[in-house]
Amino acid sequence: MRIGVLDIQGSVEEHIHHLQQIPDVEAVRAKTPADLSSLDGLIIPGGESTAIAKMLHAFKLVDLLKERIQDGMPVYGTCAGMILLADSIEGESGHLGVMDIRVKRNAYGSQMDSFIAELPLPPICDRALPLVFIRAPYIVSHGDSVQVLTMIEHKIVAAKQDNMLVTSFHPELTEHTDVHRYFIQMVRESKQSH
Ligand code: GLN
Repeated sequence: MRIGVLDIQGSVEEHIHHLQQIPDVEAVRAKTPADLSSLDGLIIPGGESTAIAKMLHAFKLVDLLKERIQDGMPVYGTCAGMILLADSIEGESGHLGVMDIRVKRNAYGSQMDSFIAELPLPPICDRALPLVFIRAPYIVSHGDSVQVLTMIEHKIVAAKQDNMLVTSFHPELTEHTDVHRYFIQMVRESKQSH
């Protein structure tokens, strides 16, 4: 299966590297409409959501991307990727607006801009994994169809809705590939049901 990593800004190479460790996955950089059309699934990496959103508009990718996601293409947004997918963002307007979540950007404030938590991630992984947060958002509210996967101190930091997976943290900056494997399983299931 062909999995793209949105190649605009952020931790693109790191996601490609993780995907390459998973059998039957062809990991590609995606930044043109033709790239997007050929994918079975897409990862939107972390970076700066406002910068990525600007480039999505400049490259005229917004409508196609929304269409593909609403059509069922599995998508995984890490950190800024979560912000881009969210229906609403505290204090500003949304970007792709496809997932029924409201997020708060830079939600951990200046002292806690970056930190690592060690925590199991059921149903993704039962053993504790290092979770890297870099000026991370969290989910402040969500609709009924959103499944909460992980909370830290009552804040939602991983969630899923149908074909969309989001995490506030960056598994691509650690050694573990569990979250990527979980996403690939979502893509497999989606391919089987189509
Ligand atoms: N603070 C960034 C934003 O608001 C997200 C940070 C990240 O992706 N690591 O877009």
